[in-house]
Amino acid sequence: MMTPVDAETILDRFRRAGGLLEGHFRLTSGLHSPGYLQCALVLQHPAEAEACGVALAERTRGLGIHLVLSPALGGIVIGQEVGRALGVRAIFAERQDGRLTLRRGFAIQPGERVLVVEDVVTTGGSTRETIEVARAAGARVAGAAAIIDRSGGHQELDVPFHALAVVSLPVYQPEACPLCARGEPVVKPGSRA
Ligand SMILES: [Zn+2]
Repeated sequence: MMTPVDAETILDRFRRAGGLLEGHFRLTSGLHSPGYLQCALVLQHPAEAEACGVALAERTRGLGIHLVLSPALGGIVIGQEVGRALGVRAIFAERQDGRLTLRRGFAIQPGERVLVVEDVVTTGGSTRETIEVARAAGARVAGAAAIIDRSGGHQELDVPFHALAVVSLPVYQPEACPLCARGEPVVKPGSRA
């Protein structure tokens, strides 16, 4: 049975699944942080993934979405669940030669209203890049959504943004990272999995 997802319970879910790591991490954005959220460990449980998808769909249902677009790989599972809950198709963009691209015959029609869905938003960089993929296809990006906004609410997106939880985990430029200054080895989360 699904239990409701809200900001108070989402971090508990991460802790229970072992998806909240502490140490010294190099994030996808290149920034360093003492904390890392591994959404895949939560989303590996289909009931958790479904609950997160339903909760994000509730927050975005009023946007009149035609399709969900997610960046691979992190956004695929939650994008699929949000699409299922909204009753719309869910597609993903993936990197080819370093550039986020629609492949596999995925297409967006001009004028379609797109919701960009990610697992975790840190700087908003990959969200913005995904928004540009949709706009380049002539779509209207009606909003963006993520399970967790770990920017502390400081991501700068030019579309309405919804997250199930906002957390503030510090991030540092590598050259200004206090953990590097102490000589602590940095790890890229998930790279040894
Ligand atoms: Zn560091």
